[in-house]
Amino acid sequence: SAHVIPYEIHKVSRDGISYGARRVTDGLQAAGFKAFVVGGAVRDLLLNRQPKDFDVATDATPEEVKRVFRRARIIGRRFRLVHVMFGEETVEVSTFRRAIDAEDAETDEHGRILRDNEFGDQEQDAARRDFTANALFYDPATQEIFDYHRGYEDIRANTLRMIGDPEVRYREDPVRMLRAVRLSAKLGMKLDPSTAAPISKMKELLSNVPEARLFDEMLKLLLSGHAMPCIKKLRAMELHHGMLPMLDVILEQPLGEKFVMLALQSTDQRIAEEKPASPAFLFAALLWHEVLAAWKGRQEAGERPVAAMHAAMDEVLDRQRAQLAIPRRYDTVMKELWLLQPRFEQRGGQRPFRLLALPRFRAAYDFLMLRCESGEVDAGLGAWWEEFQHAGDERRAEMLQPDS
Ligand code: ATP
Ligand code: MG
Repeated sequence: SAHVIPYEIHKVSRDGISYGARRVTDGLQAAGFKAFVVGGAVRDLLLNRQPKDFDVATDATPEEVKRVFRRARIIGRRFRLVHVMFGEETVEVSTFRRAIDAEDAETDEHGRILRDNEFGDQEQDAARRDFTANALFYDPATQEIFDYHRGYEDIRANTLRMIGDPEVRYREDPVRMLRAVRLSAKLGMKLDPSTAAPISKMKELLSNVPEARLFDEMLKLLLSGHAMPCIKKLRAMELHHGMLPMLDVILEQPLGEKFVMLALQSTDQRIAEEKPASPAFLFAALLWHEVLAAWKGRQEAGERPVAAMHAAMDEVLDRQRAQLAIPRRYDTVMKELWLLQPRFEQRGGQRPFRLLALPRFRAAYDFLMLRCESGEVDAGLGAWWEEFQHAGDERRAEMLQPDS
């Protein structure tokens, strides 16, 4: 049964709950249902961090939830959720569910659960979650926290602990190993020893996870604002083999490693400054040294530079698709960033002006600066472009180099 922790102890005020989440819990409770803010948001508030989004859990079915709100739609095929919209904000509402025991559930040959959820009660909903810190329920009306797994104490002790038997839970869903690493790096929480211990021997199970799901998790990790500590932790636990096979290759090249680390650092920095960080930019950076190597090889074999670049890009994208599953929707932007790189070398005539006028100039220039910082290209080239883009007409005319 649950420990009920009052406001006087946990000090999480309802003022920290978003407008939309508050409307959802109020609306559902007024209609006679249970409704709580759950998961990452409660955890983040207890850690004095701003939650990214607010999820609500309820005993109302998706249809019942939909009936309570004017702007709501049921989404998802595997497990149906309701999105309730208030202006810009979307609140995700899920019905309490329970995990099905591995014996009864449909699993693959390694024990990974394929269809895992059925409706359940609040206690079962707590038990199906991953970490004790992620299984807290907050009632904005009473400002009470309901805690079934001593998550409150774990948060106070800065510990991430798997609910139940960690080995069993990793077998059911190997992605939980990546979540353990990502959340502990992002939140600065230590992994409980029994939560950390099985990971090194169970990491092979990640290879059975569908690529699309690994990709989603990798994206979360890379855009968490803490990509650098996450990757370091993954490497320390040797988990990066499972998730980022391409990264392995890249990290083995001296220039490649520096470049990838700089790209991750600059992404973390952008997120800290609340600037947008584009996945395509990051993927373009991850694969750049592969593209460079292929491009060079093809030119040495006698191909013309531009044709060699196109062929190199396609070659690298095809190769990564088999391993990394970066979706095709990112290809256009990645290719554009790569194709613009050689054009920075051309500093005569009208060409710098044409480059400057392109919508993708800014991103391509940021990419160039990372290349300079990593030592791959001469810093003078970056400095030239830095000055040129801000210079007046006269200075620009002086800067142009004679056409070769
Ligand atoms: P973030 O701040 O990155 O969003 P989060 O904990 O909110 O972290 P979500 O992916 O948004 O992560 O998941 C919401 C909640 O769903 C989690 O807090 C956890 O309770 C539960 N959950 C998510 N993934 C799993 C999983 N693989 N196994 C069990 N429970 C999970
Ligand atoms: Mg979340």
